[in-house]
Order: sequence, then structure tokens, then C-alpha cells
Amino acid sequence: MIKNSESYLMPTYGSRELEFLKGEGVYLFSSNNKKYLDFGSGIAVNSLGHCHPKIVEALNEQSNKLWHTSNLYSNKKQEEYAKILCQYSFADKVFFTNSGAESIECGIKVIRSFHHHHKNFKKENIITFEGSFHGRTYAALSAQQNKKYSEGFGKMLPGFINIPFNDIEALKNTVNESTAAVLIETIQGEGGIRPTPLNFLKEIRKICNKSNSLMFLDEVQSGFGRSGKLFAYEWADLSPDIIAVAKGIGSGFPMGACLASNDACIAMIKGSHGSTFGGNPLAVAVGKAVINEILSNNFLDNVDKIARYLWNKLKALEKKYDEIIEVRGAGLLLGIKTKNSNMQINKKFEEKGLLTIPASDNIIRLAPPLIITFDHVDEAIKKIEDALV
Ligand code: PLP
Repeated sequence: MIKNSESYLMPTYGSRELEFLKGEGVYLFSSNNKKYLDFGSGIAVNSLGHCHPKIVEALNEQSNKLWHTSNLYSNKKQEEYAKILCQYSFADKVFFTNSGAESIECGIKVIRSFHHHHKNFKKENIITFEGSFHGRTYAALSAQQNKKYSEGFGKMLPGFINIPFNDIEALKNTVNESTAAVLIETIQGEGGIRPTPLNFLKEIRKICNKSNSLMFLDEVQSGFGRSGKLFAYEWADLSPDIIAVAKGIGSGFPMGACLASNDACIAMIKGSHGSTFGGNPLAVAVGKAVINEILSNNFLDNVDKIARYLWNKLKALEKKYDEIIEVRGAGLLLGIKTKNSNMQINKKFEEKGLLTIPASDNIIRLAPPLIITFDHVDEAIKKIEDALV
């Protein structure tokens, strides 16, 4: 019998009207022939915009040679790519994944295996923060303890303690001999674009050192140049023990990674973890092209300059329009808190041809591709003003 349904997709994303057929730089073109300035980047993913020629070239070249072999076999390019990631970060080792949540899962396994290796059997709790978002797997749902995402999915996993964000006293009062690690987003994304204050990050580092716990940063949204540095933790001038990355790492190719120090991943030995696709030849080819571009001359300086320009323009709008309650964020991950429903205002921006992404706390998120120019910022600001008047 032929089945008949309006949609064969699980309706997890609700109904969606807008469809895009083409992307070019910072623009998207819809099926009804409208051009959009993309300040959402597919939720902070398209770090180099759409169809960047260097990534297209790298993907095309690799796709004609070899797609997949599995991690049963040696892969020199994977080694070279991991070396670049380590040379430009605190890390000594990399595990390649396919998404942000998988990178978080890997980091949690690094933490648990570290304490098991050192026979610290009491150290079984990971401290996390209110408003955080680490993904949709059971460990991620259990870590963030947010009913919005976990309601109706039964028992969560034990071993996570969720405390108020940016509250040093609460952190000090919670850390004890059972603390295994502290997990925090360097810039809270889904929770409402809240940069973790640098002094709070420094305090976490100190507390982790004192309590023999690991510092695990979620840089899935904030990493790969979005803050104006390769990783946002660099602004705090410290080294974490583990970070989870994804999104911008592949500029649209589905990939991620967990980076760790040698000390932290001491027990991630043969057979302890694995992934069929993680770090396959296609992903590595794209990842190398992306990071080479981000590390190229003046790229990050430019992100920083444009981000400051955008910030100043938005701050001027904050003064001018009652609709804007607050502008916050860091680098090219900015949030506009609106008086009316953010969904409504987001729709108005969309009508003017500007794509943005709602976040919690009634925030409209701006996460443009890192390749935007001053002109693109001016264009976005004009569209925002046109929507607000
Ligand atoms: N961590 C953070 C900070 C995120 O913003 C996200 C996704 O939005 C994730 C983890 C999960 O990533 P993914 O959707 O690729 O599993």
C-alpha cells in the first residue's frame, strides 16, 4: 500500500515556510526568489559564509579522490589536521566527532576516565550552569537540566549538579571531594547570548586546580573565530583541560571535535571511544581548508574590528529605539533583547531580508559569517532600523 502523508518527517522542527535554494558569501536566496542577508549562519555554523571558494575547492578535490575509509585505517591528513588544532590551542590531543553533542559526550568520557584512571572513585559529579545548552543527547540533557529540552524523556543521568550562572559563591559552596569537573559554555548561546565573565572563567580555573577537577569548556558556538580569537577562552588568558567544538569548525560540513590536554585524556586509550565517521577524509579536507582560512593573515583581527563596529552600531540603536532593551554578547555572537516577542521581531527582520536567530530570554541572536564587511554591517543595521520604525 502506498502511504500518504503531508510530511514524512518527525515534526520536531514544527512547520517551516522559508526554503533556500542557493547560498553565496553572506547571502541566501529563497525558493520565492528573495535575497536575504544571512546574520544567522545556520545557527553560528557558516563561519566562512556560503560556498566559500576555498572550501568548495577542497571538498571537490577530496570528493574525487576518497570519501571514507573508517578509523580502522591510518589517515595522515587527519594527523596533520589534529596537529594544527593542537598547535593553535592549549590541547595535546584531538578526537574527531560529527556534531557538538558528540564532542560534549567525548569530553564527559574524558572526565570520567581521568578520575577512574587515578582511582578517584568519589569524583563523580560535573558542575554545570543554569541557562546552559550542551545538546540533545542524554548526557547533554542531563548536564544542562533544562526542562524545556528534557521534559517527557524520562530519567536523566546522574552525576551533574546545575548551579546559578556566574555565581562564584554558589560554585565555591558546591565544589567538594565529589567534584569531577566544571562544564561551562565560554559564551552562553541558546540560553540567551551571555558571555561568561573572564574573571568567572579564571575563578573556575583556580577552583578546578585546587580541587583536582577538570575544566571543560563548551566552545561549540563560541569557537573557531567567532569571538575574534580562534577560541573564546583565549580572552581569559588561561588553559582549560578539555574543550568541545563543532558548528564553525566545518563552516557547514557536519563535523566536530573534542580537544584535551595529555593529562586530561590519559585514559582515552585504544578501544575506549570511537566513531564511524568522525574525522573522515571529506571532513578533514574541509576542516583544514576552514582553519587555514581563519588562521590566515589578519582574518581574526578583521573579525575583531568588524565585531566592534557592529557592537557600536547596535548600541546606538539601543539608545534610539524603545523596542531594544539590551544589546549583549561578544565578538560576532551578539544578542538583542527586545521588548515585544523576539519571534515577532525576528519575523519583521526576515520580512526586510535579514536572517537572525531567536534565543532564550527573548533574545534575537546575530551570528553572521566571519567574512562580513563593514558594508554588510551597514546593510544589516539599515534593515533592523527599517523593521523597527
Ligand atoms: N553546545 C553548544 C554551546 C551549542 O550551542 C550546541 C548547539 O546549538 C551544542 C552544544 C550541540 O551541538 P549539535 O547540535 O551539533 O549537537
